[in-house]
Amino acid sequence: MIEMRQDPTTRNWVLVGHTGGDSGQKEALDGCPFCPGHEAETPPTLASIPGPDGAWRVRAFPDRMPVFQVEGELAREAEGLYDRMRNVGAHEVVVETPEHATTLARLPAEDIARVLQMFRQRIRDLNNDVRFRYVQVFKNQGLLAGSLIPHAHSHLVATPVIPRRLEAELRWSKYHYDLKERCLYCDIVRQEVEQGTRLVERQADLVAFCPFAPRFAYEVWIFPAIHAHRFEDLDDAALARLAVLLKSVLLRVERRTPDYHMVLHTAPNEKSPPIWGIAWESLPHDFHWHIEVLPRQVEVTRLHREEEFYVNPVTPEQAARQLRDTPAG
Ligand SMILES: [Zn+2]
Ligand SMILES: [Zn+2]
Ligand SMILES: [Zn+2]
Repeated sequence: MIEMRQDPTTRNWVLVGHTGGDSGQKEALDGCPFCPGHEAETPPTLASIPGPDGAWRVRAFPDRMPVFQVEGELAREAEGLYDRMRNVGAHEVVVETPEHATTLARLPAEDIARVLQMFRQRIRDLNNDVRFRYVQVFKNQGLLAGSLIPHAHSHLVATPVIPRRLEAELRWSKYHYDLKERCLYCDIVRQEVEQGTRLVERQADLVAFCPFAPRFAYEVWIFPAIHAHRFEDLDDAALARLAVLLKSVLLRVERRTPDYHMVLHTAPNEKSPPIWGIAWESLPHDFHWHIEVLPRQVEVTRLHREEEFYVNPVTPEQAARQLRDTPAG
């Protein structure tokens, strides 16, 4: 049993408890479960995008050991001053290519565009569920980034809460807009283009640059130069242009460090109930979608990513009991 608990001192939601999943099954599988012909070894397909030959090029299905469960109500309840709720959400896997030994960056741009189309399709679909406030799209490439299966894939996680880093971005971009009536991200992009010292690449209506205060070496942010708050509004032509730039940026990053996280930051689900301090109706003006590429290197692996949900398999009740039972000397 796993549940979400809120830390009242930071307002962070933490997942506490065991997934109770079939963790032993992964080792028992023969070969790679993400390769064509092994579809029966994963949960059933939710959506797929075929190539010209009719066979799937991109495939999405529910994660085998989801941290979040689709069924049920949020059942938010109090325990004294504390708040808890059920781990309602969705966790999906997107296999990015039928080829086993390649990376997203090495795929042809048309195939990368298909992966982006799948992200768009799944975000739109999951946002029809008003219980979900946010759909996170992220990719962990390489062992340092925590990827266990080498076959190129990414994750979608729909949650009833907004991830911490995104919430900070939303609050500060709204603050900037309230003060200046300008989008913070448009201002950043304009300055990066003007200064040029942190610019990595510019293509069509897209800009890639190293952020002013990067958390990781070779961290790159990709923005549309023209203001837009939702990634999922992009049409096929825009996704095709993004695929070309993304490929180029990821190839550069891979040469420096093969292990990286990629995170898509788009607007929250505007159909869900708003949260304190963030007005959904101002999102079209004050938020600006983007992609962050966060390389991992050995020296910094002890640091964790801010936007991740902390998943703690040991409840504090168990921990306290065990610590009490553990002699101190
Ligand atoms: Zn494979
Ligand atoms: Zn903007
Ligand atoms: Zn961001």
